[in-house]
Amino acid sequence: MAPVLLQQTVVPSFGRHLVAALLLLLIGLMVLCSSELVPKRVSLQGKLNYKDAHVRDIWTLVQLGTGVVYKLPGQPLDSPGYPVPPASIVTLDCTPDPKMPTNCTKISRAEVSRVVAPVARVGTDMKLRLLVMVVSYMASSSCGARAGANVDDVLNAYTGDLGHMNFLHNCSYGQVTYSNVTVISTSLPCTRYLDQCDEESIALNARTSATNQYGPAFMSSYSRFTYVLPYGLLSACGWVGLAELSGTQTWYTPDGDGVFNKGTVLQESLHNFGIYHAWCNGSEYQDNSTAMGLGNSCPSAPELRRLGWASPLAQLDNSTLPTRTFKVFTLPATYITSEGNMIRIQPDWLPKRNYIKNLYLALRMQGGGDRDLLDEFDGKVIHTRSMRDPCKQSCW
Ligand SMILES: [Zn+2]
Repeated sequence: MAPVLLQQTVVPSFGRHLVAALLLLLIGLMVLCSSELVPKRVSLQGKLNYKDAHVRDIWTLVQLGTGVVYKLPGQPLDSPGYPVPPASIVTLDCTPDPKMPTNCTKISRAEVSRVVAPVARVGTDMKLRLLVMVVSYMASSSCGARAGANVDDVLNAYTGDLGHMNFLHNCSYGQVTYSNVTVISTSLPCTRYLDQCDEESIALNARTSATNQYGPAFMSSYSRFTYVLPYGLLSACGWVGLAELSGTQTWYTPDGDGVFNKGTVLQESLHNFGIYHAWCNGSEYQDNSTAMGLGNSCPSAPELRRLGWASPLAQLDNSTLPTRTFKVFTLPATYITSEGNMIRIQPDWLPKRNYIKNLYLALRMQGGGDRDLLDEFDGKVIHTRSMRDPCKQSCW
């Protein structure tokens, strides 16, 4: 997304030599004009949304009642200074951009009125009803036409033998499936915001167009919404996939790194479930054993456990693994079964301040959902650390 242009407020000044009558007239005009101006600060209440755009974070507030989406300059902090978690219902003061009143250039006085758990355990037997809107732009006075992806190609990317439906089904051990994937073409008149890759404008305009075309009952029959961008917006967007974390919407570029990449689509879909990126050696994305990094394979052991899709074979801690004991475990490869496919170690023998992470051991092999697991991980027991307490961000 192109950076938001901040407009400086111009304060009018008047010469002292003006006669009183003229000054009064001018003040009268200023009062009249100021009623048209954007207020300096507005109080907003709404749901805090977070989107992970690979190269940056996008924070928005969806106002309760009106549904108006306000862009925030960053994650709000509450009065003690703690970051407000995504999906919270929050009240805050917004200093609007005079040029674009739904852009808050500054936020303050955030108060959380309802905290929502940052991570949803997905659990079993979840059926997703997905509407994919393949967006194209029609030329307008603001900007030129942009072609969209081929609808059949996008449908095939989801429903083909080894497509995204199959990948999610395998990685979740059949617990989360798409019961319906519909791909439609959505043509929108180009606007400046659409051409700047404003994801909320794209979503709103695409949904409005689809509702006009197919009716509200059609739209409400879906639980997930995906937008495939027109060609040529990559540099304006700066990402190939974007997701609400957590939420129901995802966005992709129309290329082999975006909607046609199984790893990207799984990663964005799992962001919707509240799962964050995978880290390795202190670097975000660098765990290539999982789609939550840059892999085209299923989630890692802690991610699987967090999603509620797999369970440990053993949980080891000070009481179950006393010193000078020797235990043997036989781990199945994670792709084979969800039951007992990892060992979870809780090093609670460490001093409290040092015990911040749990350790997971899991055998990864190529096959099933992990057919595209990189060779470097094939047939190996991988250890992955995760934060001891469910955390808001950057856990893995
Ligand atoms: Zn991501």
